Amino acid sequence: MTVTFAEKLARMPGYQAGVPTGQAPEAIAAGGIAQLASNESPFPPHPKVIEAIVRATGAMHRYPDPDATLLRRRLAERYETEPGRVAVGNGSCEILLAAAEALCEPGAEILYAWPAFSMYPYLPALTGAREIRVPLAPGDVHDLEAMAAEVTAATQLLIVCNPNNPTATHLPAVEIAAFCERIPPHVTVILDEAYIEFQTNDDPDATLDLLADFPNLVVLRTFSKCYGLAGLRVGYAIGSSTFRAAVDAVRQPFSVNALAQAAGAEAVLHSDDVLFRVESTIAERLRVEEALAELGLETSDSQANFSWIDLGAAEEGEVVAGLAAREVAVRAGTPLGGPGHIRVTYGTAEENDRFLTGLSELLD
Ligand SMILES: *Cc1c(COP(=O)(O)O)cnc(C)c1O
Repeated sequence: MTVTFAEKLARMPGYQAGVPTGQAPEAIAAGGIAQLASNESPFPPHPKVIEAIVRATGAMHRYPDPDATLLRRRLAERYETEPGRVAVGNGSCEILLAAAEALCEPGAEILYAWPAFSMYPYLPALTGAREIRVPLAPGDVHDLEAMAAEVTAATQLLIVCNPNNPTATHLPAVEIAAFCERIPPHVTVILDEAYIEFQTNDDPDATLDLLADFPNLVVLRTFSKCYGLAGLRVGYAIGSSTFRAAVDAVRQPFSVNALAQAAGAEAVLHSDDVLFRVESTIAERLRVEEALAELGLETSDSQANFSWIDLGAAEEGEVVAGLAAREVAVRAGTPLGGPGHIRVTYGTAEENDRFLTGLSELLD
């Protein structure tokens, strides 16, 4: 007899890293690679956040607060809600996994658009739920009409990624509100807003107002992107207190480490400053998209910190490899569900220039 693993193991999609694994982030940076493959912030966190992290290292021999009391209270104050409605996780990815675990038995249905975030296929694979993928509409936007039509009595979880990763498109809050009206109350709707701070259609907090009307709605956010804290792993969700309790029940109590809690609790105090820095990413977005248009490439309407580029006649693998040879890391579209595309994060102006120069050489 040999060791056998659970059946679900064969269903797991596996994660393809954006940059060669086995390299520390600081080595990648020191090696001069423009890391435009993982939608991170090119800016380090706010100096006060770094100070808070350093302070927290003084108590590293203790377990973290299992209730993340300070972090949840600060988030509740910032978003004018109760701490009991704020779930925190080891990255918002952990909250997604825990939500599926808490909501789905084998045979349940999980509904999401495709292409969307590469983590979503983990949820049905882990829980034995059935996945329903709804193709994006023209313009690479969520087809909310088609998604609503796929809801059944078995639908336990519906995820809307807005702005959508990898296509960068965003639907305004009024459309999300009209969609929520149509979704029956037995369906938990997770609005994954990892990139919400980068869109310019609405006030970034517009969808939070919907929580009062829809007890089945959960707004999911992260410190990984605009706050520049991807390496620490901390995200949060605001929804009902029953959702928060369910997520907490299925995970280990210490999933958000002490440094991450301290960082998040400080970072929320500086969200206005972070939004100010977001503006420089948006300025780069306009510049890069214009340059791409001059190269004759089509992009979907980006409302995030990255572009989804249709390579047209150019060959995806060759472009990705050619850019890698020029020390520019971008994400190939095929594993993300969009053959013939690449996804490119906006970095610093210098990194973006290197990307644009490399790309124009490759297209020549
Ligand atoms: C990056 C990203 C997240 C954030 O994941 P963390 O676990 O918080 O780092 C969540 N959703 C989407 C769509 C993302 O692209």
